[in-house]
Amino acid sequence: MTNALFTIYLFIVVTLVASAGMTVWERKAQCARRRFLGICAAGYVALAVGCIIATARSHMPGVSGAALGNLIILGGYMIVLEAVAGLGGRRYRALSAAVLAGMAALWAWGGVPWATWTWLYASSVPIALVCLITAWEAWRSPPLRALRSRNVLIVITGFHGILYAGRALILPVLVARWGQDALDLSSSVTLYAGVLYSVVLPMVMLALVREEGAARLTHLATTDHLTELGNRRWFFSQGAEMIAGAQGDLALLAFDIDHFKSINDRFGHATGDKVLKSFARVLREVVGPDALLARIGGEEFAIMLPGRDGAAARRIGQAVLDGFADSAVVSRTGVAVSATVSGGLAELETAARDVASLLGLADRALYCAKTLGRNRLEPALPSLAATSAIAEMAAA
Ligand code: GH3
Ligand code: MG
Ligand code: MG
Repeated sequence: MTNALFTIYLFIVVTLVASAGMTVWERKAQCARRRFLGICAAGYVALAVGCIIATARSHMPGVSGAALGNLIILGGYMIVLEAVAGLGGRRYRALSAAVLAGMAALWAWGGVPWATWTWLYASSVPIALVCLITAWEAWRSPPLRALRSRNVLIVITGFHGILYAGRALILPVLVARWGQDALDLSSSVTLYAGVLYSVVLPMVMLALVREEGAARLTHLATTDHLTELGNRRWFFSQGAEMIAGAQGDLALLAFDIDHFKSINDRFGHATGDKVLKSFARVLREVVGPDALLARIGGEEFAIMLPGRDGAAARRIGQAVLDGFADSAVVSRTGVAVSATVSGGLAELETAARDVASLLGLADRALYCAKTLGRNRLEPALPSLAATSAIAEMAAA
């Protein structure tokens, strides 16, 4: 082995060992993915050990060095597959064991006479297979679907798999035509692909876990844990975007459950919680997927309806009121508890083009609905009219 090739092998080994260390370290911060990171680290160590043995294979008796190096490297790729497939709840242990046993049998059967053929071509087949399955698993694994770094994982493992498939299928043809030149080119390409894989794969695995962790934190920070609706912060940020992108009509409905305190007092807090969840269920059933639904306070909810004018929003609001009045939850003592809700409706207008103003208008209308007897929906006065009405009231 030339000095240059040895240096590259050494680079791969050091990168993999350092990556294994960093991955083990990351397990402390990423409790939800401890197992995944642990398996990845084991895979990197196996790949590094396999590379060391492969580098020293000419100093080992017979085919022992080449066989051992190849089998451990193959095992490393399989451990990486196990890590990725495990994210989607799938396992490849039986297939991996069978492929490893088959490859070991081939090394034993072929012995020294077939060593070059086995090393160059046959050993590439299972590596190609395992890397391509890893790419496929990354593509179909549900937890990875929303993560952008998943694409890098698919590309790096897919590319590696295609390269090894080429080594098994096309290299024999190239060698027959160009001899040693083709072999030299192939070993350089394989080594550089190894460098790419050993650098990018650990980085992308850490990126996956961090991206997933960040998404989990964002979800926690923007979701109401009881109803799983968006929370107030989420409603204000998403609502601002929705208003900014609004082409035409847009409406906001604010709801407040009637006499909710007395439900808590009579049936207990747990039953009150059930009522809140039941209201969230009604909202989800009545309102389309394009709307923003949020719990903005204790028993206060808001929805923003893009593309809906006052009449359409009113129909939706009334359907929410009716659906909720018809629903009931069962208290701890077995009593059916039903409740009603009041609503206020505000439409996007020139004077109210931000969430706070729209919500203020809807809240004022909601207050009217409460005053007028509850279990009803009231439309807001346009903000200018409301302002002058308030001014008149103050002056009177
Ligand atoms: P109104 O018809 O005027 O709206 O009367 P209300 O009783 O619904 O209004 P009030 O503001 O007096 O009471 C709201 C109650 O909501 C008080 C609070 O204890 C309760 N609450 C707030 N958050 C939660 C929660 O997460 N779970 C339960 N069970 N109750 C909650
Ligand atoms: Mg309230
Ligand atoms: Mg209330």
